[in-house]
Amino acid sequence: MSDTPSLSFTYATHDVRVVFGAGVLATLPAELERRGMRRVVLITTPGRPADREAVAALLGERLAGQCAGAMPHVPHEVVREAHPVVVRARPDALLALGGGSAIGLCKALALETGLPLAAIPTTYSGSEMTSVWGISDGQAKRTGRDPRVAPRLVIYDPELTYGLPPEVSAASGMNAIAHCVEAAYAHDAGPVSSLFASDGLRRLAESLPVIMASPRDPDARADALAGAHLAGRALDLTSMGLHHKLAHVLGGSFGLPHAGTHAALLPWVTAYNAPAAGAAMARIAAALRADDAVEGLLALARTLKTPTLADLGFTADMIPRAAALAAASSYPNPRPVDEPGVRSILACALAGRRL
Ligand code: NAD
Repeated sequence: MSDTPSLSFTYATHDVRVVFGAGVLATLPAELERRGMRRVVLITTPGRPADREAVAALLGERLAGQCAGAMPHVPHEVVREAHPVVVRARPDALLALGGGSAIGLCKALALETGLPLAAIPTTYSGSEMTSVWGISDGQAKRTGRDPRVAPRLVIYDPELTYGLPPEVSAASGMNAIAHCVEAAYAHDAGPVSSLFASDGLRRLAESLPVIMASPRDPDARADALAGAHLAGRALDLTSMGLHHKLAHVLGGSFGLPHAGTHAALLPWVTAYNAPAAGAAMARIAAALRADDAVEGLLALARTLKTPTLADLGFTADMIPRAAALAAASSYPNPRPVDEPGVRSILACALAGRRL
């Protein structure tokens, strides 16, 4: 007889081929061929022309067009400008090279065109493993889930991340850790998502401090990228709660940077949820090798020198509107969400005071 007779779970994964390893970028043409992707439009953020040119050279005749205008939070105007570029190029797939911004624009274009996606992630956003999309219009960010936006091919080459600045690595890594934390206490968590969440969190918490000291450490870079992969899988299998909602509110309605905001909020939202999620907190603490989940996250944030809400330009007068927006819609969260609760989270995070 099972010792957990009430255990029951359901999960679905989308059809994706994942190729991971130092140097695997060289296999891109063969991997695209295997997926039947013969003409792709390459989507990136501006900057880092060397990486873009290297991938364009690898693509050769498969390169049907390029769009280097991806921006954080996928502004609606950027999608509108990129759409005709894609239509004119007549590709059979879209290829994102970069972080969550490039992947996010690809997802928005996939929603409009129905084209399949491939991704070469170079940060720790985890977006490449999810069917979650988001588009912002300056006032707010709309998000949703649609299997059409989940990449069918993901190439992880840790060598592409060696130049990711330590402070960007730290904030992006805390974004991935936030996926793991919310997956740990999600109402629809199960044994599979929990495995991804715990191991993803452990790998990120161990590797990010090494990356701060030695940004080109190959083992730490590989571990962090593998942790981000697992974090993305955990995010895709579960429903995110107050932490992700609040981060989207501060990013979409107040213009705060995505990854830094995740880093600045995570210990405080975790402290709010802790009384309602004891077993998950124990797993989070164990993955952090800490006695307490919140203390472990605070210590990691100190080691990584991630920004505070104040560093990001958030001020006390923004608290009422942010709390009203975060409490306006309903979403699953271990502890009920109300405006006073969110106000206290934001006030404590701003002051650096324990909740
Ligand atoms: P980003 O994609 O904006 O990248 C951050 C910066 O790092 C950019 O300037 C970029 O050019 C640079 N960069 C990226 N890779 C680099 C590298 N290897 N070397 C040097 N510089 C590099 O930021 P992000 O944090 O990866 O993504 C944030 C976006 O992703 C947000 O819009 C967020 O909403 C979205 N996101 C979506 C999901 C999802 O599942 N849909 C999950 C997480 C984040």
